[in-house]
Amino acid sequence: MDLKKPLWPLFEFVTQLYLISPHGGLEDLIQELPDDLKLLDIIYKQPSMLIRPIASVFDNLALIKKGRDITLPDIRDEDGKELPLFDAMISLTKQRVLEYELEAINSALCGPCSCVLCCTGPDLSARQEFFEIPLLDEEISLFSRFPIVDSMKSRAKTAYSEPELEIDGAPFYKRPSAIYHWATGYSLILVRGAACPHLNASGSCNIYSSRPVACRKPQIFPFVIERLSGRHQDAAERYLRRDALLAIWDCPYVKEFKAEIITYARLCNLTCIFKENKA
Ligand code: SF4
Ligand code: SF4
Repeated sequence: MDLKKPLWPLFEFVTQLYLISPHGGLEDLIQELPDDLKLLDIIYKQPSMLIRPIASVFDNLALIKKGRDITLPDIRDEDGKELPLFDAMISLTKQRVLEYELEAINSALCGPCSCVLCCTGPDLSARQEFFEIPLLDEEISLFSRFPIVDSMKSRAKTAYSEPELEIDGAPFYKRPSAIYHWATGYSLILVRGAACPHLNASGSCNIYSSRPVACRKPQIFPFVIERLSGRHQDAAERYLRRDALLAIWDCPYVKEFKAEIITYARLCNLTCIFKENKA
């Protein structure tokens, strides 16, 4: 995986080719791709090998081509209009391809950095009041030493709602670190000066192989679509199309690879946004 060679132009090309090709199945088309494929000045070597590990992202496309019905989550544009089915399918596919690719890039870049920024709350002198680690329902048990705040009020807000959630007359982040149940799901809130209990003295994670999904995410976040709700199994998924790439400026490798990240966003036709998280 390489920020200078994003996968999306390749997947977009294959999508268009598949729609006009006589092939019924995608695998036939993938097998016929040349060993070297040049798109947007990028040479993809062995493109079939790049596609196969996540070829399942094309499942909906294959169903559309066969004239079958597909069911997608609710994805809207910034005016609140529901996207046409094909556009929604493309946005969802693009989000999945970028998540897959950026997660792998993140793992490769983060390890050598000896950095624990993603495992700690903000510094005592920072303007940022807290650091949020979103948790899936099944990941809550990894953090059983923390209290869970779950009330009608918390479930009506997110960690970034304004006005913020108050508990006993004070903002929630003035209390010790805890797990909160928000409108968008659960998250661990690490307050200023706090650290994840799984961070060990040598700066690595004690539960690395079973760490939460959020801890595996890149500091270069694909926001082709942004999830608005539905992290719980029982809640409907709703998304907003953003067509953006968000890179967290606090991260040392985001600074180091700034130019490559801008190029990556351009090649994927996304707006590139750099944001400080723990200023
Ligand atoms: S679970 Fe591991 S990777 Fe995640 S915040 Fe804690 S120490 Fe860091
Ligand atoms: S800020 Fe970047 S380098 Fe530091 S722990 Fe997070 S992902 Fe890794």
